[in-house]
Amino acid sequence: MDEQVQLDWERCVAFHGHVCPGLAIGFQAAQIALKVLHALEGEPYNPKSGFVSIVQNDACGVDAVQTLLSSTFGKGNLMFKDHGKQVFSFIRRQDGRGVRVALKYGAMDNERHQALRPKMMDNTATPAESEEFYKLHGEISMHLVEAPPEEHFVWREITFDLPNGPKLNPTVECAFCGEGVMEQRASVRDGRIACPECVEQYESRVLVLNK
Ligand SMILES: [Zn+2]
Ligand SMILES: [Zn+2]
Repeated sequence: MDEQVQLDWERCVAFHGHVCPGLAIGFQAAQIALKVLHALEGEPYNPKSGFVSIVQNDACGVDAVQTLLSSTFGKGNLMFKDHGKQVFSFIRRQDGRGVRVALKYGAMDNERHQALRPKMMDNTATPAESEEFYKLHGEISMHLVEAPPEEHFVWREITFDLPNGPKLNPTVECAFCGEGVMEQRASVRDGRIACPECVEQYESRVLVLNK
């Protein structure tokens, strides 16, 4: 493995806490992003305006995206869509151009690994099975990291309308719990401002009353 790739992979593993195929998926998706975003024809990539990562799952691979691309919720350059798909898009802020990377369906299936997984999950694997599982786990991960990206992924250029820069979000007081809540997330219950938590409680009360 290329020395830089090795170092990058180790950084991801340190952040995520373990080696796993999911982390390797995000690692490769981020590598593809770096390659494609810098090679788009026309206007060169402007690192000052940066790019936004849109992840369509909240699994292990997102940790590699955060580590390698510095995409985080705090910086506002990480967007999560709860789609349960191993799909990652990376969009340049300067012009909305970017790349959409998808894991091929079944690309990393391994029958033995899948057969052992339920046993690992409910702690019924024998020590030998457990050892075999972790060996396969590591092998599948390393294969994902080292194989040419075309083997497991498809990607294409896209354009995407990113929401405009950071918005000012005034905070208002929830009339029910007294805590502050971003105005956009607040709603009105019984003519008073309510935060999402208190709305949930309100709705469960209404359900009980209607029974
Ligand atoms: Zn993991
Ligand atoms: Zn509240």
